Parts: sequence; structure tokens; C-alpha cells
Amino acid sequence: MCAVVGVFGVENASQLAYYALFAMQHRGQESTGISSADGERIHLIKKRGLVTEVFHKGRLELLEGSCAIGHNRYSTAGKDSVLDAQPVFAKYKLGEISVAHNGNLSNKFEVRDRLIEKGAIFQTGMDTENIVHLIAKSSQEKLKDRIKDMLTKIEGAYCLIIQSRSKMFVVRDRFGIRPLSLGKLKNGGYIVASETCAFDLVGAEFVRDVKPGEMLTFHKNKEPKSEMIFESDPHPCAFEYIYFARPDSIIGGKTVYNMRLEMGKQLAKETPAKIDLVLPVPDSGVAAAKGYADGMGVPFEMGIVRNHYVGRTFIEPTQEIRDLKVKLKLSPIKDMIKGKSVAIVDDSLVRGTTSLQIVRMLKEAGASEVHMRIASPEIKFPCRYGIDTASKDELISAYKSVEEVCEYIGADSLGFLSIDGLKASLGDDTNYSLVSFDGNYFAGGNEETAGCSSYA
Ligand code: AMP
Repeated sequence: MCAVVGVFGVENASQLAYYALFAMQHRGQESTGISSADGERIHLIKKRGLVTEVFHKGRLELLEGSCAIGHNRYSTAGKDSVLDAQPVFAKYKLGEISVAHNGNLSNKFEVRDRLIEKGAIFQTGMDTENIVHLIAKSSQEKLKDRIKDMLTKIEGAYCLIIQSRSKMFVVRDRFGIRPLSLGKLKNGGYIVASETCAFDLVGAEFVRDVKPGEMLTFHKNKEPKSEMIFESDPHPCAFEYIYFARPDSIIGGKTVYNMRLEMGKQLAKETPAKIDLVLPVPDSGVAAAKGYADGMGVPFEMGIVRNHYVGRTFIEPTQEIRDLKVKLKLSPIKDMIKGKSVAIVDDSLVRGTTSLQIVRMLKEAGASEVHMRIASPEIKFPCRYGIDTASKDELISAYKSVEEVCEYIGADSLGFLSIDGLKASLGDDTNYSLVSFDGNYFAGGNEETAGCSSYA
């Protein structure tokens, strides 16, 4: 998961990177960092915490220079060391370098083993460190050629923003699994960010998505230079549309909110229910629930109130804390629900924790029937390309049928969107990465290899 940003060719580069990271806080709340380059050296600040906690005015002022790159990190449980924060900075033969990475390398173990074999030492478990090592060890003379060399040795999902003291390089893997867009800043200069919602905040104009397999080079005041490093084979991640991206972002030319509405409408076609009301799980299920209600011709109500001061349920590592957090976060409007047959719509069901708690909550609030509807297919496989879907044994749908999951969560019925229904909602014009649903590990790795962007 994670968010990356790169700002090039403006005086207040680190300030703009800060705003962009703030707009993309939903992509990672564990740690954040910005490095800036002033032509002579790279300055770096990174820390655990939210963007607003880590950066204040005095700190940003230390990040001088007309190029800034930044990162918000979302890590798996337990990997919460500040060392795992990004960007990753290093000094090497050609000077200084800083790297921000969103994604997950599917051959990270092989690469790291080979590097360790040759005497390399590592400070963290992040695959981003592999990238820095491969660049530093390349026998090519120029940084750009070293980056290209490194790219021949890594596989999987990556959006990379790499900064030297005077240049910025941006690369997206040939599958375009994670989103990455290019924008133009009002006062000249460019911004590259994981999501277009970052452009809206800093007033940048969307130019285009970075192409799968493309490298952009930013240098001096010139237009960015584009080169295709690999042949494109686009497989954008369906989960970005389902859950991860902000609804106001545009990915692959499609507004995320509209895609979620479509998924809800399709879900109504596939799994209707006899209901009086449709409620969303706030905030993740809102757009899909609206689509489901529209499709069913039944009123949509915000019948569950969310306490916005509690973070996402996945952030806490232990199951015990996760259970409590759902209750802290969500509370039903009893008057609205009492005696009604309700459909409750969420974007996805992973371990079943949220659904179980919510069904119980709605029954306790007096609902006569509770029909759980999930606007994505059953998650049966762990993603290896940057979405934290934990290990296979934690995925309830990997081992239980729909009926068994329904019984587990205590609902009167349970319906998932089909894989074909998901494809139809997103549009048949693209091959999406559906690995969590169909187990097609097209970019390498498999269900056994350990998850997400760091390992012990
Ligand atoms: P669970 O409670 O384990 O079934 O997880 C489902 C809930 O977590 C849903 O409300 C989703 O919006 C949310 N969710 C789905 N995938 C993720 C993820 N990778 N990280 C954090 N939250 C997620």
C-alpha cells in the first residue's frame, strides 16, 4: 500500500510534498517522510506518526531545495520501527540518493539473499533497501543507467521515486499495478503522486497517468523525459477501486467513487434481498451501499455513525485490539433500525471481524433481519503486490464457504459480488489484477511467500 509523491522544479517543493502526503494519509498511517534536494545535498526527515504529527513548520523549513520526494507507510503488524520509514537514503559512489517505493517486490528474498551472500548489510526488512543496494552496486557509470540495471533485477509491483542531488527519476512497473499520476504545478514544475487527490489539494493540473513500464526523468527546468523501459502489460489493482484509493481520485481515467457505485448496483443485480433499508459500513462501504440502494430501489440511510478519531481497524496488530476497535469506531442509530430488515454493505470482507461485529450491533439495535452484502468477491488469496491481506490462514473465505461465513458472522444472508460482476463494474477494457480473488500471481510470487513490503 503506501503513498509516494515527488515534486520537482519549485521553490517550496517540500511544502507541496507535505500537502500531497496529507491528502494521501489514508494510504498509510504508520510513518511518513520527506527528503529534499537542493543541488548540493539531500535533506531527510522521517518518523513514525501521521503527516501532521511528524511535520510542522520549523521542520519543513529544514527541507530546502526545489525537489522533494515523500512517502506514507502502511506496514504489516509489528514492523513499526522508524528504520522502516521511507524515503530510504544512502551515500554511495556517485553521491547521495533517496528512494520512495510503493508496492512489493515478488523476488525480494532471492535478491536479498544474493546481496547478503556478497557481503551486503541491511538495516531494515524493507525491499526498498534491495533497490538502493542494486543501484549502488551496479557497474554502470550514470545513475540513470544504474537504475535501469537495477530494474532488470527486480520483479513485482513498484512505483518508484528516486532522487539524486539534482535529478528525479520516476518508474512504474510494467503491469502498472499501483497507481501513479503526473501533474503540472501552477507556478511551473511537476508533481508525481500515487493518487490524483493530492493534485487537487496543491492545485496541480492532472497531466496523465505514468505509463506501466515507463521511466520519467526530471532535470533542470526541462520537460520530463519519458522512456519506455519495459513493454506495458497493464494489470491495475482492482482493490484500489474497491477499497484503497480515495473516492475522489481518478485512476486509469475512472473516478473511484463511480466505480464503487457500479459495484453496488451490480451487487443488487446479483444478490437482491427483501429489505426496508440499505446502510453502509462507514466510510468504506458508503459508495457501494448507495449503488446497492439505487439498484434495489430501497432507501439509503447513514444508519451507523462513525467516530472519526479512531484509525482504521487494521492498524492495530492483535486480534483482541481489532475487536474492540470496531466497537469504538461504529455505533448504530437505534430508532432508524428497530424492527427493520436491513442490508448492510461493506467494500470487502477479509477476516470477518468487521462484519461479525456490525451484524451483532444491528441485531442488538433491534433490526428484524440483517443481510450482509460485500461489494467485492471472496478474498481467497493473499496479495503479493502491495495490499496487506495478511496470510492465507487469516482470510476467512479461503477456508469457509459463503454459507459458513454467513453463519460465522450471524447474518440472515450474505452475498458477495462475483468476479465477473466486478469486471463488468470496472469495465471490460482492462485486465485488472484480481490476485486476491482468483490467485493469479501474474507478476511473480505465490500464496506461500511472505506478505507486504517488509520481512523480519
Ligand atoms: P475484516 O474485518 O477483517 O473482515 O476486514 C474487512 C474490513 O477491513 C472492511 O471494512 C474493509 O473496508 C477493510 N479492509 C479491507 N482490506 C483492508 C486492508 N488491506 N487494510 C485495511 N483495511 C482493509
